[in-house]
Amino acid sequence: MTSPDITFTVRRSPRARRARLTVTPHGEAVVVLPMRAPERTAASLVERHGDWIDRQVARVRAERDRLDARPSLADGRTLTVAGVPRWVHARDARELEGLERSLRREAGILLRGRVEALSALVGVAPAGVTIRAQRGRWGSASRSGTVSLNWRLTLTPPEVLDYVVIHELAHLREPGHGPRFWSLVRHHAPQTDRARRWLREHHAELMSALD
Ligand SMILES: [Zn+2]
Repeated sequence: MTSPDITFTVRRSPRARRARLTVTPHGEAVVVLPMRAPERTAASLVERHGDWIDRQVARVRAERDRLDARPSLADGRTLTVAGVPRWVHARDARELEGLERSLRREAGILLRGRVEALSALVGVAPAGVTIRAQRGRWGSASRSGTVSLNWRLTLTPPEVLDYVVIHELAHLREPGHGPRFWSLVRHHAPQTDRARRWLREHHAELMSALD
């Protein structure tokens, strides 16, 4: 049942309340331990969840192989933009910059339109919309009422895009991720669970869409 050869790294975190097991995008098992937890906690956690780790590592490796097998942007690649497949290519850094700039401009128009339409639904009036290119996140909402959205959202299905916009707009009414926040989000975005799963599964692919 357990795989005795699973290698793992232990990290200590002052914020960790209890031992937590994760598999990184590089396929490495990591145990995060509270500062004072005994070292053997990590080994026993890994031992108990050996099958789960094996499955996660296999999933991460398969995803990486799939991404490595994509045609290069120099040869051309199909991206789904605003729900429509489109063939794009960039032979050098200058073309790549141009491609990203034009996708970003298009995304801005689409995202601002969705923010406008969905603001009324959620009952908020954002102070502004910023289009960003963060590698790690889809969106954020600032205290001053500005909503920031990742241009790569234009590569997601419309219902996923709307979920992220509604999520950020809901933060203008409920800052944290408490029960009131989630019930507000789910009320306006019944697709929430589906959309979150989709984003998890396609995160690496979309964040590296122009790599
Ligand atoms: Zn949030």
